[in-house]
Amino acid sequence: MAEARLIDGKAIAAGLRGRVAQGVAELVAKGGPAPGLATVLVGDDAASQVYVRSKSKLAAELGMKSFDYRLPAESTEAELLKVIADLNGDPGVHGVLVQLPLPRHIETADVLVAIDPAKDVDGFHPYNVGRLGSVAPGGILDFPVPATPLGVSMLLHDALGPLSGRHAVVIGRSNLVGRPVAQLLLRLNCTVSIAHSRTRDLPTLSRQADILVAAIGRPEFVRGDWIKPGAAVIDVGINRVPNGEGGSRLVGDVHFAEARAVAGLLTPVPGGVGPMTVACLLFNTLQAARRTSGLTVSEADLVHDR
Ligand code: NAP
Repeated sequence: MAEARLIDGKAIAAGLRGRVAQGVAELVAKGGPAPGLATVLVGDDAASQVYVRSKSKLAAELGMKSFDYRLPAESTEAELLKVIADLNGDPGVHGVLVQLPLPRHIETADVLVAIDPAKDVDGFHPYNVGRLGSVAPGGILDFPVPATPLGVSMLLHDALGPLSGRHAVVIGRSNLVGRPVAQLLLRLNCTVSIAHSRTRDLPTLSRQADILVAAIGRPEFVRGDWIKPGAAVIDVGINRVPNGEGGSRLVGDVHFAEARAVAGLLTPVPGGVGPMTVACLLFNTLQAARRTSGLTVSEADLVHDR
């Protein structure tokens, strides 16, 4: 059998960023606001600083305004909630993103629930979680949806077209990835199985999948003989492992070489799901600004599955 075709997440994300930039230009040309994204970082975690910087930089490149808030690690929950309240009330800010993880003395759930659901561009507010959980098959996503899962559904729709009737097995049930991926695929009329650490005989279940999504956090966990020949495999995992030369390299949750010999479609790591995440976050920010503008703006070309 031929090798799997690789899904080029970098190219698809670049296309989405281009459409978001056009959407921003159209909104501003019609007299609407330039979308504003506020990022809030508590503490000085190096990886979080890199993420926040790249989000702000990309936002500016697409014509958005970005506002960076840095709070010291010892800030109290009340101080953080005050910043969020101010951003909720600021009409120039359409998206509020609090970088996770937060320092341990701050209760993440209290913070997520404090963000105005209309500005919750991460889609983690319980109100938006509930909306995704109750969206009708094929229903419009007129609320923010978590960025990585949205990216997964866009990649699949881009590669396969309509997904109706396909059996999707999602390995992982986190609120960040697995659950929202499952909800989005259900919305696209897949038959969805959700697997997790207590699932029995995961290889047999995985082999039944037309679409296999791995969001586990374990390097190269999914082996080639878990995959149905010709299946589409989306690897959400990002794991750093030793490269055998004293350095490190990134691998996914799927054994890439083995999967490539069996699957029909496969996302590489890096260069698959990863680039979609920031693009989808900026897409969410544009959508939030559009909804507050009250203007009629074209949406049809912005995402693939509407
Ligand atoms: P998480 O919160 O740790 O959840 C992992 C899930 O995998 C859990 O549901 C867990 O089951 C399940 N699991 C763990 N071991 C398992 C096993 N042996 N068999 C079956 N299921 C198992 O992780 P996450 O936040 O969802 O992230 C998953 C991966 O995606 C990580 O590698 C992360 O770095 C990556 N990620 C990538 C992006 C991106 O932009 N590409 C964004 C976010 C996350 P239980 O629920 O039973 O514990």
